[in-house]
Amino acid sequence: MTRAVIALFFLALTSCSSTRRSPTSWQLADDSPVKPDAALLADMIAALDAAAQAGTNPSISKFHVRAATAFEHNGQRVVIAGGNTEYALPEAIHGETSAVNHAIVRVGADAARAKVRFVAFYSQSCGTSLGCGDCRDFMCASTQSDRLLWVCGSAADHKIRVRRFAEGLAAEERFPDATPAELGIPTADLQRLNNAVRDAWKHGISLFTSPEQHTAAAVLTAKGAIHRAAGADDAAFHYRFPVGGALQQAATAGEYAVRAVMVAGKAGAWPHIAYRDRQYGYEFSSFGQARGQLPIRLILSNGQGRYKVTTFESALPYAFSVARFNPQAIERFLRAQEPALR
Ligand SMILES: [Zn+2]
Repeated sequence: MTRAVIALFFLALTSCSSTRRSPTSWQLADDSPVKPDAALLADMIAALDAAAQAGTNPSISKFHVRAATAFEHNGQRVVIAGGNTEYALPEAIHGETSAVNHAIVRVGADAARAKVRFVAFYSQSCGTSLGCGDCRDFMCASTQSDRLLWVCGSAADHKIRVRRFAEGLAAEERFPDATPAELGIPTADLQRLNNAVRDAWKHGISLFTSPEQHTAAAVLTAKGAIHRAAGADDAAFHYRFPVGGALQQAATAGEYAVRAVMVAGKAGAWPHIAYRDRQYGYEFSSFGQARGQLPIRLILSNGQGRYKVTTFESALPYAFSVARFNPQAIERFLRAQEPALR
């Protein structure tokens, strides 16, 4: 993965050399989808001014993500900033996760969940993304995600645009039900996927993961190969996700064209697919689409003959992806892999 690719994993891009205007010059954009009231807008402006000054350490991408939130606590306005940090292999702590984590540090988890109403980004430009999959998981766990607002303050014109974070969520329960015939997978391949995912689910590593949380995935590639993986946790809580794991095995075999991914959990229940794992699927689906193929079918199995089917594109609305911001990077990568793709 190149530095240019890494750089594209961020919603809010801010140059060090941006000209900073008076803190009083922020204005709500006429086309802002959400119109906050005056008090909330004042908190957003205070947060944007703090975000503009936030420290970051994007040692790989060189792109700064400056985020902040603000709320009343003990009779005073509290303004809390966060910034992105990158390290070693392309890994990162993202600006929005940093800001909400700092809010927890400042007022405690319960107060932060009750009081954080928005995350504001001081941004070079306001795109459509509602954050990466991992940050969505963190926001769902740490805030009232159904009411959380996503605020972009444009460094260029000091216009503020406010959206709903929940537009980036897609609950598994709402994925469309499908009969086996509607899955678009030949019966023999469907049986192979079922066998692989049920067998994989028996294994993996569940030191801290409950049976209800434990899931597995099986991948059917365009060449007809099956790859599989089960979730694996560890003491540092650096969970290894099944969809990402199975797709990594496909990539290791040089197979970047994937037809379907089946996910299953405890028999009789619909599996939960973390947004971080959806991000891996979304990125992988963009490989096949760059070669004119259909999006990967994402199939949920309840282990008792019932299915739901969707795509990673539908399961991760307003995704942040290299495919959206730098398709040339995917083209360069796939061209280098072309012998393996044939
Ligand atoms: Zn993120």
